[in-house]
Amino acid sequence: MSTASTDTVSAPLFDRVAIIGIGLIGSSLARALAEYGIARQVVCADRSADACAKALELGIVAEASTDLAAALAGADLVVLATPVGSYAAVGEAIGPLLKPGTIVTDVGSVKQAALRDIGPHLPDGVPLIPGHPVAGTEHSGPEAGFATLFQGRWCILTPPPGADRQALERVTELWRRVGSTVEIMEASHHDRVLAITSHLPHLIAYTIVGTASDLEEDTKSEVIKFSAGGFRDFTRIAASDPVMWRDIFLNNREAVLEILQRFTEDLTALQRSIRWGEGEQLQDHFTKTRAVRRGIIDAKQA
Ligand code: NAP
Repeated sequence: MSTASTDTVSAPLFDRVAIIGIGLIGSSLARALAEYGIARQVVCADRSADACAKALELGIVAEASTDLAAALAGADLVVLATPVGSYAAVGEAIGPLLKPGTIVTDVGSVKQAALRDIGPHLPDGVPLIPGHPVAGTEHSGPEAGFATLFQGRWCILTPPPGADRQALERVTELWRRVGSTVEIMEASHHDRVLAITSHLPHLIAYTIVGTASDLEEDTKSEVIKFSAGGFRDFTRIAASDPVMWRDIFLNNREAVLEILQRFTEDLTALQRSIRWGEGEQLQDHFTKTRAVRRGIIDAKQA
């Protein structure tokens, strides 16, 4: 894992970075770019005037505006950090404002949608290098961000075929300098991998917490009281931003439905084992899953 986050001796990679959407991820990146000297100036645009005011008050950006044109003026890197469902509208709005030579990237959790919804709006000479930092928390907004969020984490870049090499190298270097290890893959592959590692677990958490909240009142209070038995961990995941997750499921529909089908089959098999008292099958299954946990700890991703 890279530890290059404090690589402040290198010259800045960008003069002016404009971050659109100054929430958890946008504000974490803004903090890291400024603190580690990766950009000379970091500015933001957000549709929320409150988020802009907060970002200025926290001192994490030099300028903040609800006006995209003001933020984008003179930017050599533009980062979309809004929910994926906003990409087509944001892409359409920024397209006419972009000058050749500007690089556009994003941090969204679904990558085929980024290529589909942003790509067509960009003028010639403005490369798109989609990205996804595999890092986050269940919190939202500019106050929730922190500069070290990306340290020791993966960042997946999904450049389209024939993407500008230099732009790819600069975006790769940006993520390396904030402390991430970069992996490059096809957008469709990213979406399949994340469907199982991130999207399905969130769907399961949302389901369990929803089921618990539908229980009768007396049982419900005991769910809260004894939540340390496992339920508590699901509630943390199920507290993640509703808009962001709505957009992830709507924009990675096929991969999520495919993996959900397999999950449902496996769940039915476990249900049968419990019904028929097949202890050996259950124990074998749980032994295999325990090994997966050990692998994650060994890979320092726990
Ligand atoms: P967040 O904290 O909710 O911040 C998003 C910000 O974007 C909000 O201030 C929001 O304003 C603003 N916004 C929404 N639509 C906009 C538009 N059309 N134009 C301008 N600003 C707009 O979200 P986040 O958690 O940072 O997530 C941002 C992106 O990162 C998403 O694409 C997500 O998939 C990706 N991501 C998230 C995580 C995570 O763990 N959270 C991890 C990796 C990647 P309003 O409050 O008015 O809506």
